[in-house]
Amino acid sequence: MICLFGGTFDPIHLGHLHAAVAVCDALALDEVRMLLSARPGHRGATGATARQRWEMLVLACADDRRLAPDDTELRRAEGRGRPSYTVETLEDLRAGAPDERLVWVIGSDAYRDLETWHRWREVFALADLLVLRRPGAELRLAGALETETRQRRVERFTAPAGQVRVLEAPMLEVSASAVRESLAGGGTAAADLLPRAVYTYIYEHHLYGVIGDA
Ligand code: ATP
Repeated sequence: MICLFGGTFDPIHLGHLHAAVAVCDALALDEVRMLLSARPGHRGATGATARQRWEMLVLACADDRRLAPDDTELRRAEGRGRPSYTVETLEDLRAGAPDERLVWVIGSDAYRDLETWHRWREVFALADLLVLRRPGAELRLAGALETETRQRRVERFTAPAGQVRVLEAPMLEVSASAVRESLAGGGTAAADLLPRAVYTYIYEHHLYGVIGDA
């Protein structure tokens, strides 16, 4: 099984790490690939560059061997010079592993927006989706996504693609936007929301509007 947890990770925070570990436990995985989105098509500019987000991701994953930072999309975007789409990443992986189970991990906030993704229906043909219930992002769905989800919902994955499982494990109420806001506001709350090495990196590189020392 290949399990991918994609994100902008701008910056990676404890909510992401907690979620990745919960996924490893729930699926009995040796590793989850923490896949950095180089320049997501549906999002605006990031606060840190792709290289900086990658360096923070590597630092954050260093203490847990189950968390494997993955720069596949970063390298592909550099090669193509255009935004990377999830469906393309999954197509590439699928081509190399036709029978392997692929699991794409996604928070409930992002899942609710799935219909805005490039070729979103094809994602189901390529991977199973594991949805995390983020606090404050109820899984209230409507329209085509609601129908697709209802038809595909399972308690346990049994097929290499096409199924949707909602993980009931509790998630932390942390978001990268709250972290950025706190940093820009000069508060110290972000210290409790980030791995220590990431917090230090942000101060060393004066990211997200921070000034002074950590
Ligand atoms: P932002 O606040 O800028 O939107 P974010 O905190 O949602 O950022 P992303 O890098 O966009 O971080 O998220 C990557 C993936 O991780 C998404 O699928 C998102 O739903 C999920 N995710 C983010 N934070 C959490 C969390 N605290 N618990 C569970 N999943 C999370």
